[in-house]
Amino acid sequence: MQTADEHWQLVLDEWDRLQTRHPMVLGTWTIERSARLKSTLGMAYPGTRTIRIAEWLLRQGPVSQIVDTVRHEAAHAWHPDHSKAWKNRARALGARPSATSALRNESDYWVAWCPDCETAMGYWGSEPRRTRYHNRAGCSHPVVYRHIG
Ligand SMILES: [Zn+2]
Ligand SMILES: [Zn+2]
Repeated sequence: MQTADEHWQLVLDEWDRLQTRHPMVLGTWTIERSARLKSTLGMAYPGTRTIRIAEWLLRQGPVSQIVDTVRHEAAHAWHPDHSKAWKNRARALGARPSATSALRNESDYWVAWCPDCETAMGYWGSEPRRTRYHNRAGCSHPVVYRHIG
């Protein structure tokens, strides 16, 4: 069982990954944790370009739902609704393309980690079989997979 702070670090890792991939859109957005969100997992606020992740979700997990929520809210940076366009964007970001927040009953979640740069490179709902390499300027280190929840 991980703490809310550890879960928040996963959020920041995933957010960093999404921003790096989509700097034109997500580069101007910020993400924060919120103790005020009670009945929702997260919210996107286009006016202030802010995404908020519920503190209760960070305490409770599971990791799969937390990562899914980050991607779900990030897709709202393109589309404020749950239209077909939003669904396509959510899917492209790796989120479940659904407006509802039914918790997935997966307890098997893995993060790909570059031990050289100490950065997270993505999350998987099962143990990945393929060996991946960090493909960034100056680093081609093989990534390791860590079981996180
Ligand atoms: Zn939504
Ligand atoms: Zn690296």
